[in-house]
Amino acid sequence: MSTIWHVLGAGSLGTLWATRLARAGLPVRLILRDAVRLRSYAAAGGLTLIENGHASTYAVPGETPDSPEPIRRLLIACKAYDAENAIARLASRLAPGAELILLQNGLGSQDAVAARVPQARCISASSTEGAFRDGDWRVVFAGHGFNWLGDAGNPLAPIWLEDLQAARIPHEWTTDILTRLWRKLALNCAINPLTVLHDCRNGGLTEHHCEVATLCAELAELLQRCGQPAAAGNLQQEVERVIQATAANYSSMYQDVANQRRTEISYLLGHACKVAARHQLNLPHLNQLQQRLVAHLRSRGLPSD
Ligand code: NAP
Repeated sequence: MSTIWHVLGAGSLGTLWATRLARAGLPVRLILRDAVRLRSYAAAGGLTLIENGHASTYAVPGETPDSPEPIRRLLIACKAYDAENAIARLASRLAPGAELILLQNGLGSQDAVAARVPQARCISASSTEGAFRDGDWRVVFAGHGFNWLGDAGNPLAPIWLEDLQAARIPHEWTTDILTRLWRKLALNCAINPLTVLHDCRNGGLTEHHCEVATLCAELAELLQRCGQPAAAGNLQQEVERVIQATAANYSSMYQDVANQRRTEISYLLGHACKVAARHQLNLPHLNQLQQRLVAHLRSRGLPSD
């Protein structure tokens, strides 16, 4: 019998992973917040994935964190700011040798989770797949992409990569996951806050070329200082390429703010500024960007952490 995939969080990415694993015939359990969410899920009859306009529903069994079953493999698919509390509620259920896969964007939440459950192996993921919810328990697979997986403390690939293969979840194991996470974080810092502050699509940043270039230079300095020279290479070029390639899109942070949702600022720009301060690195434009963003979020009545 294959090991059960426990999936915490039935949002966009959690549903995208849970439905593909279930479709491949692999055992999956959804962990929902509480009994109220579990009842709502039961009434819906399963998770619906909409792909190329075609909706399929999968009756993945659901449970609450209080369920007694031990957890051997856990995909954590909540937002970065929820991850530490979520794992704290599950710590006592983790079996010896349990493995966690962390889908959170940015940096900071992975270390917070690992510190809560030192007995478990924590594997980080960096995903370029795109999905959004179009209703409770319904997710649209919006952008095909890729998943990089790795464990900064152990280069050995886990055996369950074959499950991802069977589920047709595009992935590759990397021994450089921190480089990938830092690079993605830097791209995010150079683009997303400015789209919020200038109230524009990604392509609108072509009109703020100098501001973007200054941020890229400071971000590259930070990456060098924290031992990530590979993540610093040609950063500005890549930022400009992403701005062009995604010109018509609104960034994820823009969408969060526009929809009055909490952002993941503390794990993106906030994390970059915190690490710079720890290294006593003076990055005035990055710090000013954070102050402007925090003020903007507060003015909209949104959490600034
Ligand atoms: P999401 O749609 O907001 O889903 C998060 C889910 O986590 C929600 O269903 C929420 O439950 C659940 N949750 C939170 N705390 C929980 C707890 N203690 N117990 C059980 N469930 C809990 O978020 P997402 O878009 O999938 O993003 C997840 C992470 O992936 C983020 O860090 C994001 O930046 C990253 N990411 C997302 C995408 C994407 O396309 N969506 C792409 C790349 C990376 P409720 O439904 O009850 O609120």
